[in-house]
Amino acid sequence: MSDNQKKRMDGAKSHRKPVKKCDAEKMAAIGRHASKVAHELNNQLDGTMRYIDLALRLVEKENLDKPKEYLTHCQKSLTRMAHLLAELLDFSQSNCIPSEYVKIEQLIEDCIKTIEPRADSLNVSISRNYAAELPAVRSGNLFRVFVNLAKNALDAMPDGGELIISTRQVRNDTIAVQFRDTGPGLPEGDPETLFEPFFTTKDKDQGTGLGLAICREIIGNCGGSITAENAPKGGGIFTIYLPATSKTMTSS
Ligand code: ADP
Repeated sequence: MSDNQKKRMDGAKSHRKPVKKCDAEKMAAIGRHASKVAHELNNQLDGTMRYIDLALRLVEKENLDKPKEYLTHCQKSLTRMAHLLAELLDFSQSNCIPSEYVKIEQLIEDCIKTIEPRADSLNVSISRNYAAELPAVRSGNLFRVFVNLAKNALDAMPDGGELIISTRQVRNDTIAVQFRDTGPGLPEGDPETLFEPFFTTKDKDQGTGLGLAICREIIGNCGGSITAENAPKGGGIFTIYLPATSKTMTSS
């Protein structure tokens, strides 16, 4: 390589955005071994939880308060581990499968069906605001992303509120899908932190902090991006930008 070529390459490198090495390594390491380890641990966990269940029944019968308390702690920790494992499995399978073309509204409606019973029980109304005649997108694992964002929105509104899901065309080649809620808004600090693996503000048995990291991975694999911000009047906004295909789907 000539000196000039070397200089040009060095120059190009210095203009590149620095990759967050630590995050990338963390994500890669989790993804590489997650499914093998998770399956094995799941089996062990299942057996252990069964024995704890049996032991709990016995100590309840005998009214042994302290052992009951200790076993309940164990049960809670193991349940949390099971949640973590389930999410790690999701994470390891989160590559974008270049599957069929779909109407984005159809994926959103499927997601709403999944979360509607919980939304009703929390008194959260769901509004749609769909742009007309958007180009199709590749479905990939987008359904999983939408469900995760909707679940987070419901978690943020335990006393009721509104979840507004909207779509719009940003440019010829990009579609945006937005999940806006009327909850208390994002935790203080840089919204980018929310996408780091294991960042959670939820109780130990409620959150693993992997949901948004997985969402970002899936969307990134689809050639898109996701941002988080607070709405001016409060509430969280998550916006997904997706590459639009050249297909328009007229019928549902
Ligand atoms: P988890 O739900 O297990 O905590 P996530 O990665 O899905 O993991 O979310 C990380 C954190 O982002 C949540 O713990 C919460 O603090 C914040 N968050 C996500 N969605 C919302 C929302 N709609 N409103 C407020 N905070 C949110």
